[in-house]
Amino acid sequence: MNKKRKLIIAGNWKMNKTVAEGLALVSDLKIDLANVKEVDIVVCPPFTALESVSKAVLDSNLRLGSQDMSEHNFGAFTGEICAGMLKEFSVRYVILGHSERRQYQKESDALISKKALAVHGASLKPIVCVGELLAEREAGQTEKVLETQVRGSLAGLSKDQMVETIIAYEPVWAIGTGKTATTQQAQDAHAFIRGLLVKLFGEAAAKKVRVQYGGSVKPPNARELMSQPDVDGALVGGASLEARSFADIVKNSI
Ligand code: PEP
Repeated sequence: MNKKRKLIIAGNWKMNKTVAEGLALVSDLKIDLANVKEVDIVVCPPFTALESVSKAVLDSNLRLGSQDMSEHNFGAFTGEICAGMLKEFSVRYVILGHSERRQYQKESDALISKKALAVHGASLKPIVCVGELLAEREAGQTEKVLETQVRGSLAGLSKDQMVETIIAYEPVWAIGTGKTATTQQAQDAHAFIRGLLVKLFGEAAAKKVRVQYGGSVKPPNARELMSQPDVDGALVGGASLEARSFADIVKNSI
């Protein structure tokens, strides 16, 4: 299906990989994926591996993402990393509001929108994560939760910024659990998000926004998920830690 939106597949390594392990992984990915032009391929190592991985991917089609970023730019914020620091390592994408950060660091939609504005202020692209809990889905609240998160996390973005923003729909019950949303559940949620973007930013902008699916994406389910009309890529956790599985997800999606 020609969606006119380029697929974007990002690997979120989370708190995994030493520098040496990260370099070994990207070295294999560079070989396996060297000929792929149809997909924007992004790796998101932990902060400690950004510098080394950034040098390793310089001459390749792999792009670099960060797993988070401060809403501030330099200053007295212990433990934080800002846009000016990420740009030193040619980072292009920043994951924001991952459900693990929403859960463990209590990140709110309001904070995520401040971070998204800071990411755009530095000419980087945010990957803004949204998704419902299992209890919320079972209570029939999926759309309500998504609407609150989308409105709150993207508050204040201009149309131009929205077009350069990636949304990752990640049902929390599917992350790291081996349970994947059915293709219909994924498509329904993506279509709902795009419909909301039409209301908030207009049809022309909404049509250009890439919405990734995340939640136990593996090589065997990638093709069917990516073939859905509103699914424009994947945010991959566990399966991005092995070159073979991440490369196969990319190849199976084309
Ligand atoms: C994620 O953490 O964003 C994710 C989708 O993880 P997994 O692929 O392991 O479910």
